[in-house]
Amino acid sequence: MLQDLEQLIALQGLDAEIALLEGTIATIPGQIRNMEQQLIQAKAALEKATAEVEQLQRLRRQKERDLDEAGRELKRRQGRLFEIKTNQEYTATLKEVEGLKQKISTLEEEILIGFDAIDGAVAIRKQEEAKVRVTEAEFLRYKQAREDELRSLQDRLSTVRKTRQGRSRGVEASLLQVYLRLLKSRDGLAVANTTGRSCEGCHVSLTPQLYNEVRRNEAIRTCEGCGRILYWKG
Ligand SMILES: [Zn+2]
Repeated sequence: MLQDLEQLIALQGLDAEIALLEGTIATIPGQIRNMEQQLIQAKAALEKATAEVEQLQRLRRQKERDLDEAGRELKRRQGRLFEIKTNQEYTATLKEVEGLKQKISTLEEEILIGFDAIDGAVAIRKQEEAKVRVTEAEFLRYKQAREDELRSLQDRLSTVRKTRQGRSRGVEASLLQVYLRLLKSRDGLAVANTTGRSCEGCHVSLTPQLYNEVRRNEAIRTCEGCGRILYWKG
């Protein structure tokens, strides 16, 4: 095989690997961020559940204060019942006493229901706490694994780049320019295999004459469809 062609095929293999490595490397930070998003969501859900518990506890304390206040008020009114002179005032105060008793009963009931609501909210908060713990552990494991992978891909990339640099020095300068231009304009594939009698890059069938020439791998021949440098793999 023509030495230049051999070098170009090797170069193409290395450039394809570089493109693949660069592509994979570029996706890793986004994948880590996506996973982190789940942790952020779990933490937000926990915050919401915690706020709900606190809100219900505040409400309960408020109702307990209201209950104490209503109890004291009831005692005051009940005490006054004995000092009242007129029937009219007595009836009015009795009505107030009944109103306060009703209020106390309602508050007591609401406080009881409130305890159930708090228990429910605390249970939800516990679930969310567990979810955060699990998600955080998963995320840290995932992040570690992807970062290890990233480092090994970067190591491989720098090795391949060095090899590529060495290889490209072995190719004649003007041919290397053609190769690099094609690599850029032809979606990373500058040197195309023609084993199936058509160009691997654009799938145009080769004329019998061109195919015969390419089969020998003894000259630089290019595709009539896309301009890629052709070779025959055998
Ligand atoms: Zn082609």
